[in-house]
Amino acid sequence: AESVLVSQQSHEELCKLLALNKAAAAHEQKLVVVSVSPQSRASLAARCKLGLLETAQKLTMFLKSLGVHYVFDTTFSRNFSLLESQQEFVRRFQRRADDKKALPMLASACPGWICYAEKTHGSFIIPHISTTKSPQQVMGSLVKGYFAEQQHLSPDRIYHVTVMPCYDRKLEASRPDFFNQEYQTRDVDCVITTGEVLKLLEQEGVSLADVDPAPLDTLLGVPSGELRGHAGGGSGGYLEHIFTHSALQLFGIHVDSIHYRPLKNKDFQEVTLERDGEVLLHFALAYGFRNIQNLVQKLKRGKCPYHYVEVMACPSGCLNGGGQIKLEGESSKEELQKVERLYESLRAEVPEENQAVRELYQHWLGGWGSDRALQVLHTQYHAVERANSALNIKW
Ligand code: SF4
Repeated sequence: AESVLVSQQSHEELCKLLALNKAAAAHEQKLVVVSVSPQSRASLAARCKLGLLETAQKLTMFLKSLGVHYVFDTTFSRNFSLLESQQEFVRRFQRRADDKKALPMLASACPGWICYAEKTHGSFIIPHISTTKSPQQVMGSLVKGYFAEQQHLSPDRIYHVTVMPCYDRKLEASRPDFFNQEYQTRDVDCVITTGEVLKLLEQEGVSLADVDPAPLDTLLGVPSGELRGHAGGGSGGYLEHIFTHSALQLFGIHVDSIHYRPLKNKDFQEVTLERDGEVLLHFALAYGFRNIQNLVQKLKRGKCPYHYVEVMACPSGCLNGGGQIKLEGESSKEELQKVERLYESLRAEVPEENQAVRELYQHWLGGWGSDRALQVLHTQYHAVERANSALNIKW
């Protein structure tokens, strides 16, 4: 069933939908929205030898020339994922004495890791995983919720596509948790990888460098002339955001810079916040299967010292995802460094200072920490029987 769902999500599916849309009567057409991940944009920029802003503007024009109506950036939805993760961590930290499963909190942004945890360690690990939706699925809720309302459309009249650095996002979009029963529609209808965008360009005989730039769309309707990123690395900056904000919120300590200490390798590092020799916060990042296994073993033995772990399935994180473009004639290390340099060249924004984020919290979600924010921006996980799952785990 998984492979059928995934095969429904490809650039061919998008092309079919766009062709059907062109042929359909106006009242039957879907509004086509594409949300592009910043990791995909960096990979495309490196491949096409363009700047990030140019890449975003030219990709917007290219997609619109195919019949796409709006092109958004999932950096925007990541603001919500970061803020909700931070609040969730603070709540868990405060109840840690009464709830032994409250900590460590494990990141929820990587569907490869979630799939592995559900299938392999199910009910033991699940309570530790943050319930906050990933940026892709927050974008799904924003597009099929807020944006649909603004456009006076029911959610099923919008076809929402995301461009992502990995194939596991296709499985994530297909989860029943992200299916709207009332309107029989998914929050994200189709996921295409960065490599599939390149195939789309090749199929259309278009070189991105030759495309004219278009203004960037934003969810609140004001066209943007700039791109922003988040501090803390190519996997989203969860550790840094939660660490700095929790240090302030829980202990009144301002953290100006974060010093990572490598443990076994560069994909397993830790960070501590100390006062008078006492460790107040102990965070880690664990990327790649080997480090995740190590982390899970520590947890099972009751010897996991961390309060929070940013867990990502791919070694080196999302910029190195399996759906990214492999550059020609360069070693994989060099190509990754090039993509990392581009990705980190953007000015980092502070999520709570983004006016559009504040406005959506206030007017659409009913306030910071409201029941509606919890309902819209959080999800749940499901233990899968080991006997049924052993053959399905892909790494
Ligand atoms: Fe996808 Fe890899 Fe990032 Fe996980 S770490 S979200 S599998 S690219």
